[in-house]
Amino acid sequence: MAKHVKGATAVETHSAVLDLIRSGGVVSRIELADRSGLTGASISRIVRQLLDDGLIVETGFGDSTGGKRRTLLQLNPKSRHAVGVSLDFASITYVITDLGGQVVARLESAGIGHESPQVVITRIAGELEGLLRTARVDRDTLVGIGIAAAGRQDSRHHVLRANPEATEWELFALEDTLGAETDLPVVVENDSTCAAIGEFWVGRIPASADFATVYLATGFGLGLVTNGDVYRGSSSNVGEIGHMVLDVNGPRCWCGSRGCLEMLAAPRRIVDLAMQAPDLVSELDLSGDVADTRRDAALIARAAAQDHPRAVTLIEESAFYLSKALLSATNLLDLDQIILAGPGFSDAGEIYLRVVSEELNRLSFVRAVHPTKVGLSTAGSNSAALGAATLVLHSRLTPHQTSSRLALSR
Ligand SMILES: [Zn+2]
Repeated sequence: MAKHVKGATAVETHSAVLDLIRSGGVVSRIELADRSGLTGASISRIVRQLLDDGLIVETGFGDSTGGKRRTLLQLNPKSRHAVGVSLDFASITYVITDLGGQVVARLESAGIGHESPQVVITRIAGELEGLLRTARVDRDTLVGIGIAAAGRQDSRHHVLRANPEATEWELFALEDTLGAETDLPVVVENDSTCAAIGEFWVGRIPASADFATVYLATGFGLGLVTNGDVYRGSSSNVGEIGHMVLDVNGPRCWCGSRGCLEMLAAPRRIVDLAMQAPDLVSELDLSGDVADTRRDAALIARAAAQDHPRAVTLIEESAFYLSKALLSATNLLDLDQIILAGPGFSDAGEIYLRVVSEELNRLSFVRAVHPTKVGLSTAGSNSAALGAATLVLHSRLTPHQTSSRLALSR
């Protein structure tokens, strides 16, 4: 930890000390000096500033050392809050977290569907105000809103790019519009990257691990963390595993390729296959409409989780294609761990987990060297929204640091 703090800029030093207090629970100034490598005088100055800002509080006295009383410090979690919003075709999930990253309120509402972006943004602003009131969170404590969004992004121009189901969002200035509507800073990030940040934050992952999160909502995305840092690629569009080609002669995908994972294994594909069997359609009460894809896929997944043989076959086929995509991903990246996250795994996650684990442990190139552990997210359908809120805490409280820098948070 000391190597991160020494030689950092003033703002980085400030936030790194704050993070040492957060991760340490209850600490003294002397312990902070030891852990950070900073001088006692620097620590005293920074701690004074953090106390003045209300971000930390003094919480009593520890054992004296050399006759000097040690005042103990801890984070003041209620002093600041962040909002995370997962923006998806089928649902919008909100979480409010405190400064320590604990979820204090949650709301799920209708997805963006085919509403125009401006209508959705106005609705989000209203729903957020309602949630703040219900949760009794003081608006003045909010540091900002993080948005976890699907689809291609153009972070340089602060716009979302193509999403096949929501074309009106093409080139829509999401950050600026929502920022103006709510009068709060807004950051936008890929939903699978947010899910990876959320998993890292809830603490199941060692800081040194190289891991990936597969996020399944309408399509598949892969969030990557290497050595405690998010890997973003050159334009924050890393991890489009949904467009990994698994069948060169397969069905044409909206992205232009053929036989992409999304075409072979996404919820829409599962529902389309089920719709070919009229008796299954009536038994499970499937609608088949694109607008009902999430509901139909969940009905099939729930039937599969209860061992309905034909539903199991449909989910296993989807899981089989996913396992092949993840086999290529881990052969390429040498991953320790893969977490399955997002609403697409809520109902039949255990089946995906079994199929993917078996395939990776049977065929991964590095299987003789180390296993590739596969697990289900504990944050469930909250993971992207939670990651987006975490991103805000980092980017607003550590403004000169790249928001992807997670090494200081653990
Ligand atoms: Zn594609």
